[in-house]
Amino acid sequence: MNIHESEKAAGILENLGYSETNDEKQADLILFNTCCIRDNAEKKAFGNIGAIKKLKKAKKSLIIVVMGCLAQEKGTVETIKEKYPYVDIVLGTNNLNMLDKAVTTVFNTKKKQYLIDPNEKPDIIEDERVLRTSYPNAWINITFGCNNFCTYCIVPYVRGRERSRKMEDILKEFENLLKEGYKEITFLGQNVNSYGHDLQDGSTFAKLLEAADKFDGKYRIRFMTSHPKDLSDELIETMHSSDKICKQFHLPMQSGSNKILKEMNRHYTREDYLELVRKLRESVPDIGLSTDIIVGFPGESEEDFEDTLELIKECRFDSVFTFIYSKRTGTPAAEMDNQVDDETVKNRFDRLLKVVNEISNEKVNEKLGEVVDVLIEEKNERLDNYVSGRLSNNTVVHVPADESVIGTIQQVKLNEAKGFYYMGEIVNWVYQSLCKMFGIIS
Ligand code: SAH
Ligand code: SF4
Repeated sequence: MNIHESEKAAGILENLGYSETNDEKQADLILFNTCCIRDNAEKKAFGNIGAIKKLKKAKKSLIIVVMGCLAQEKGTVETIKEKYPYVDIVLGTNNLNMLDKAVTTVFNTKKKQYLIDPNEKPDIIEDERVLRTSYPNAWINITFGCNNFCTYCIVPYVRGRERSRKMEDILKEFENLLKEGYKEITFLGQNVNSYGHDLQDGSTFAKLLEAADKFDGKYRIRFMTSHPKDLSDELIETMHSSDKICKQFHLPMQSGSNKILKEMNRHYTREDYLELVRKLRESVPDIGLSTDIIVGFPGESEEDFEDTLELIKECRFDSVFTFIYSKRTGTPAAEMDNQVDDETVKNRFDRLLKVVNEISNEKVNEKLGEVVDVLIEEKNERLDNYVSGRLSNNTVVHVPADESVIGTIQQVKLNEAKGFYYMGEIVNWVYQSLCKMFGIIS
């Protein structure tokens, strides 16, 4: 989501006549797109903003912009005014459309611009200029904000309430991207499963996917993120019937303990979660499953943590994003008085990683030797004459080939499993035909 928002900022700046440079000293404008989901993201952002001071000193005309979640967080504008007074523009999460005016004003008048809209339900702005940077992949926002208020999470406070874009607007953007040659489009929302609830015109996420599935040509659809409490049978059925929706599901579990899930305000139990995994696997047998886990939520006992490990073993995820609980001021969990001590958290985190890595390793090995569809996405920066792409289940594979295959879907034989990714080779058409004849591939 952040990368995509940076693409929108880049689109606005390009329209103003700016072009990209990788050399800070050359830059006339430096924009920080920030995150505040965990304390270390916030610290990193302030560290980087601090480091830019000397550049501004050397070049007075340099314009410095801070945007994104950190900018919207309570108290940030005051901190910036006090500690980083050389920042020229602060833009809240609802104010990206004001970037061009703010830059022009600073350019002409040198007057600082602190633009934070406290509105929790701002209007959705359509027809934004986007400077896309990830061909053959592209992102589309389908919802903004979040209504869930998980007790550890700051997102609802900095992104406002959930608003869905109209289905026709999303599909128009989708079709245009296909016409421009994009091959994999990812729908973005904090909880894509509740897409449409606020529109009250019958739109659902499953219906959106069904419509997006109907265009001509060979392309892929992905989405993130899904909240388990809103995962519908209709969506699972749509995935089952589509050959364009990737066989991948990111379903954040957060904890395997019913007590902790309740404290987190997640609205599901470990039994509900297991049932969803069972249904997904039954309907889409080859599906790649991933999840998010938080370790050390307030009140997490050894027993609660073992419940999490147990559930991870039962679900056998292809990959798990593991996070140490981070206290976010203003959230209910930050006020809980049973915070877990650092040493215990560190110990659990290491044990969690061990389990997660073992399972991922086993899962990657299961497909070894198969021939699968891979969208080739980019030149491999480390290996000469290699390109990299992803399987439908989202695992990465590196293959020897030149850049001409970027943006095409190739049949790749998975020769070697390397923990989280494969080394493979593009198979030629004679081999493919033989495999098809003998039913090895479809
Ligand atoms: N809307 C998405 C998540 C966005 S944040 C969803 O609900 O799935 C991505 C992940 O960051 C979350 O799933 C959670 O695991 C983690 N996270 C959020 N707040 C956190 C906190 N305070 N400390 C540690 N991890 C956190
Ligand atoms: Fe945060 Fe929960 Fe909303 Fe995800 S669903 S953004 S974790 S409040």
